[in-house]
Amino acid sequence: MRNLRDIPYINNLSEEEIFNIEVAARVCPFKTNNYVVEKLIDWENYADDPLFLLNFPQKNMLLPHFFDELSDDVRMGNEERIKTTVRKIHYSMNPHPAGQLKYNVPTLNGKKLKGLQHKYHETVLVFPKRGQTCHAYCTFCFRWPQFTGYSELKMGLSDVNVLLEYLKYHPEVTDLLYTGGDPLVMKASTLEEFILPVIEADLPGLQNIRIGSRVLTYWPYRFLTDKDSKELLGLFTRIVRSGKHLAFMAHFNHPKELETEEVQEAIARIRETGAEIRTQSPLLRNINDDPDIWIQMWHKQVELGCIPYYMFVVRDTGAQHYFGVPLVEAYEIYREAFKAVSGLARTVRGPSMSATPGKIMITGTPEIRGEKVIALTMIQARNPDWVLKPFFAEYNRSAYWIDDLTPAFDKEYFFFEKPEMEFEYFIKNLFG
Ligand code: SF4
Repeated sequence: MRNLRDIPYINNLSEEEIFNIEVAARVCPFKTNNYVVEKLIDWENYADDPLFLLNFPQKNMLLPHFFDELSDDVRMGNEERIKTTVRKIHYSMNPHPAGQLKYNVPTLNGKKLKGLQHKYHETVLVFPKRGQTCHAYCTFCFRWPQFTGYSELKMGLSDVNVLLEYLKYHPEVTDLLYTGGDPLVMKASTLEEFILPVIEADLPGLQNIRIGSRVLTYWPYRFLTDKDSKELLGLFTRIVRSGKHLAFMAHFNHPKELETEEVQEAIARIRETGAEIRTQSPLLRNINDDPDIWIQMWHKQVELGCIPYYMFVVRDTGAQHYFGVPLVEAYEIYREAFKAVSGLARTVRGPSMSATPGKIMITGTPEIRGEKVIALTMIQARNPDWVLKPFFAEYNRSAYWIDDLTPAFDKEYFFFEKPEMEFEYFIKNLFG
């Protein structure tokens, strides 16, 4: 469903609210379906409903001057101007955060492989071309360029042989993460074309197949009643029986997404295949910026047999000004929630920023020699030697991202910004 006015219940909204969504949806991706509309959204209280805000673009998701400019264009009905304004807004929204296209796209025989990303030593991300859409779109989406018309911003792999060839030269890769968009929009037979050849290639280093998907929230019927749901579950079983570990990287933002019979049944069916479900979500203002929500979510996930995995910081792309939570507050929410759950949910890590050098976690706000600081570490890094090295930033309650932080203790740089300086410092200290 892409046409707003065709949606049952939309008449609960005022004409102005509908117009505002129509304007914002020119920029933020919009797509929904009857499961989200009928089973997840509370239309009596839509204005505060997290699932409504997650799926229906809002006026405040655009910066005020952009919203005003675009709404004038829409009122005039001038499609050429709308296109120009939308393009200007999109390019101002940091389409590829953390230097994804600049640093992460690998090469083979001098050719860039735009359907893969290889940032961390042991993990390759695979973007199957036909999986670059989703069952519904999240208003905070950090992969929104995949759903725009700009081919220069899109990633997509059409030939699995490219992946196989690349893996031959990279025996260090233990994990493949199929991602999107959502790879589970593809038919089971298409997904098979991307996974089975890899399994059958019998690559000695490859251990783990991961599938990143939000299908459990947006379309659990994928495992229940879709024409090829049995085939899809059969593929999962086949992967597990091949001896590979299959991790379903599920994406849940709110406990409401775990309440329906459909999602609970779908989770049970995935688990029956021997796959493991790990869960992750960004911490989002207006959606889940409350420790109680995370406590409920992690409790329910453990009860359903899922493994809480990550709490992410909202990335510096898209509507970050609407969804972002400052780093210190994010840490406080994480800690409050973490304190209240048992060890089985304490598998979750966060709050973590997927930044250019790696996944940077906030680990506390200690006072060291009279100075209050933010303690950080990397749980994953572009350079494996950076992992779990503690480092410190000046205390700053308004910082939303690593770029907003200043190194503490009068240091000029964070160690990963000038690694050679850190090395010199180390040698100097070692040899006096
Ligand atoms: S499911 Fe993921 S890729 Fe799809 S819209 Fe949501 S955040 Fe973006």
